[in-house]
Amino acid sequence: MSETLNTVILGSGCSGLTAAIYASRANLSPLVLEGHEPGGQLSMTTLVENFPGWPEGIQGPELVDNMRKQAARFGATFKLAHLNKVDLSTRPFKLDTSAGEICTRTLIISSGASARWLGLPSEQALIGHGVSSCATCDGFFFREKEIAVVGGGDSAMEEALFLTRFASKVTLIHRRESFRASKIMLERAMAHQKIELMTNTVIDEVLGVEEKEVKGLKLRNIVNGDVSTLAISGLFLGIGHEPNAKAFAGQIDLDEDGYIRTTNNVFTTKNGVIVPGVYASGDVQDRRYRQAITAAGTGCMAALEVEKFLEEFNH
Ligand code: NDP
Repeated sequence: MSETLNTVILGSGCSGLTAAIYASRANLSPLVLEGHEPGGQLSMTTLVENFPGWPEGIQGPELVDNMRKQAARFGATFKLAHLNKVDLSTRPFKLDTSAGEICTRTLIISSGASARWLGLPSEQALIGHGVSSCATCDGFFFREKEIAVVGGGDSAMEEALFLTRFASKVTLIHRRESFRASKIMLERAMAHQKIELMTNTVIDEVLGVEEKEVKGLKLRNIVNGDVSTLAISGLFLGIGHEPNAKAFAGQIDLDEDGYIRTTNNVFTTKNGVIVPGVYASGDVQDRRYRQAITAAGTGCMAALEVEKFLEEFNH
């Protein structure tokens, strides 16, 4: 029989790592399952200018690496593994993971959200061949090339601005006239001489499937129906994220878009009733704020609730 842990934290982004710092400082020896994207979304971003405490900003990967070191310093351990299945109806919970079975008294779900795709067959066929959801990972391959970014929020603006370091031209394609992005980010993108904004436009196809590399885009103007082709070498997705909560469908309440519903910030529920010992923090349960600082905040709350739960029930 394997050892029963006090708490397992699913996900190693800003939220999971903050939970790990608090749980380890409470002597709970948390185990962090690092998941498919170790470090979470921060590890794929560049300069973070709004995390309190760094007046000049800090690089996302550095911020998350600091949090990891801080958690490890107090006894958190890490495993590169992901969850296959868990039955949340019987405690202790037995997690079926890619690294074998793990038994735990409590669970903190901080599995975050992953990049959303358009869902076009041509887009899917060309992932890794010019289609990317990570500007910081792949921007380097597009030196002096013309590329496109799709989306109208802050992610799209951030990607477009970052990609100007490499690309000769960045066309930002957005399906509406008005943008969801914050004013400051939109203004920066609009003012950049390498960025061209194309609104009311959708991508019908990514061209280059036969050649196995992106050659262009088939575009459609949704106001006048005009169809056109744009020659580019790379397409970057900046259209938001999907919560990583599918493994819990049917066991805890999710909202219509698949985010975990929580009550009192971090308590999970089933049919509105609290599920004992299971907490959710960060972007997997937050569709409203989605900031590094709020993810860290709920990670802290979840760890404090775990501590309380274990004390109260004398586990
Ligand atoms: P958002 O949900 O804010 O924006 C997604 C964008 O993609 C929208 O413009 C949306 O269009 C568009 N979109 C969604 N699906 C499709 C589709 N199938 N086809 C075409 N377009 C589509 O997500 P973000 O990731 O941009 O931002 C999430 C949060 O993170 C926000 O709160 C943002 O402020 C924050 N953030 C902050 C940053 C910073 O401060 N540096 C950087 C990045 C993110 P439509 O508008 O029509 O719905």
